[in-house]
Amino acid sequence: MLHVVWYKRDLRIGDHRPLQEAWREKEPILPLYVAEPSIWQESELSIRHLQFVKESLEDLQGAFERLGGSMFVTIAEMESVLGTIYESVGPFTLHAHEENGTPVTYERDKRVRQWMKDRGLLFHEYQHCGVVRGERSEELFKKDWKEFIETPVMNAPDSILTLDQEILPSTITTNMDTLLRFKIGGYRIKYGQQGGEGLAHETLESFLDGRFTRYKEELANPLASTNTCSRLSPYLAFGNISMRQVVQLTKEAIEQCDKSDDKKQLKAFNSKLEEHCRSIQWIEDHPQFACNSGNPTFDPSRDVWQEGFERWSRGETGFPIIDAAMRALIKTGWLNFRSRAMLLSFACHTLRMNWKEPADYLAGLFVDYEPGIHYKQVHLVVSPESMKRVCLYDPIKEGKKHDPEGRFVRQYVPELKHVPDSYIHEPWKYDGFFHLDYYGPIVDVGKANRHVRARMADVESSGDGLKKKEADKEGNEQIVFDLFTE
Ligand SMILES: Cc1cc2nc3c(=O)[nH]c(=O)nc-3n(C[C@H](O)[C@H](O)[C@H](O)COP(=O)(O)OP(=O)(O)OC[C@H]3O[C@@H](n4cnc5c(N)ncnc54)[C@H](O)[C@@H]3O)c2cc1C
Repeated sequence: MLHVVWYKRDLRIGDHRPLQEAWREKEPILPLYVAEPSIWQESELSIRHLQFVKESLEDLQGAFERLGGSMFVTIAEMESVLGTIYESVGPFTLHAHEENGTPVTYERDKRVRQWMKDRGLLFHEYQHCGVVRGERSEELFKKDWKEFIETPVMNAPDSILTLDQEILPSTITTNMDTLLRFKIGGYRIKYGQQGGEGLAHETLESFLDGRFTRYKEELANPLASTNTCSRLSPYLAFGNISMRQVVQLTKEAIEQCDKSDDKKQLKAFNSKLEEHCRSIQWIEDHPQFACNSGNPTFDPSRDVWQEGFERWSRGETGFPIIDAAMRALIKTGWLNFRSRAMLLSFACHTLRMNWKEPADYLAGLFVDYEPGIHYKQVHLVVSPESMKRVCLYDPIKEGKKHDPEGRFVRQYVPELKHVPDSYIHEPWKYDGFFHLDYYGPIVDVGKANRHVRARMADVESSGDGLKKKEADKEGNEQIVFDLFTE
């Protein structure tokens, strides 16, 4: 009997339970990646994700060849691929990790399960990254996650017998260039991180070997964080490395630290890893949040302002830190946490756009787009109902605080290269501004943010609660906003 290993966001051979279970059967295996038009073309995924997937698959192809086998790829809907395999090879067993994503992947998985059941075929699904199907309390999540993460890592098989290509129709191929025929939109990436299991391990190794020592201090610094953060996000998002591998190696590194500060840095990093899985558990429990705002009271008041969206999306708002962040993202596919939150808050609060368009646009640009993390963060930034906190940023203050000499701004907004430091975040105040080839500010930020606060107060007076203002640890204004107040 053939065992099909269905690859999704788990593009590796190490610590891969579906592959292990199929291999244990000692029967031919078909390791298969299916690029499904309904998933790729109907969602936020873009050409840069496809590029990352293709690089990861090429790396996997090399790994399978070294084990004596091959990796296969095809472009079609999953049920039709299963039909093709059934016609060419006969009955088979399907193995896959559970995918915890958006309603689109959730529905697809249901259809695949039904397809297999209708033909009396076995479909084994395995837990991925400590997330459990079905709603989980925080206590249960923590218990299950710990248990999953502490299970020993599974080594890659030492040899593999994969199906002979000739048995399959030519649409299922070992040629990864097939993916280039797949037309999807977005910006291609030239300077970003490349996919692959080997690169994922190198990235983790270089982080644990020393890049981590200023992890906490530089988290909010848009330039320094490119090196002091782990940069594991795309590798985790597409499963080039397993969460279990990362957590276990991090714990080993913590035990080996001599300095207490090093331990603190790595513990802070480790808590983000748990948060990664908690966020995915959140989308598993609330898949509707990928499509709907958590706060119907607040959203409908927002206009679609096409010119505003276009200037924001190209990095032409006239606010240097916003434009630098957007241009850096377009160029590299990565931003630190604070810049992501600031970009979204600026679009949704300061420019008063409906959250969906900016959130989906950012998802298409983040190479590490992971629906659970992304939409949870979107709701934290934008939607007071789900998380009770709305973050409002002043881009001038943000720039002065986290890029005081304007190094990040000058790197990505070359029009401002020669503007003195004292004007770099407010270039419109500089005498020579009209000789610069740069934009005037798109909005009066003070006035716009005052409007946001007034709008929140309106919602409060209509029966729900704007409870109090407070400053977070870094002095950023937070408006705590409780729509559930009785
Ligand atoms: C609006 C918005 C959207 C975001 N969208 C994504 C996304 O699509 N994919 C994504 O991986 N991260 C997302 N993040 C979280 C965070 O910004 C990135 O995980 C981080 O910048 C990635 O860089 P790193 O791997 O060097 O992170 P590190 O700081 O080194 O963290 C290690 C890993 O922990 C996880 N992690 C870090 N921060 C968080 C967090 N706040 N919540 C959950 N997990 C976290 C990531 O997997 C990350 O790779 C988003 C944040 C915001 C504000």
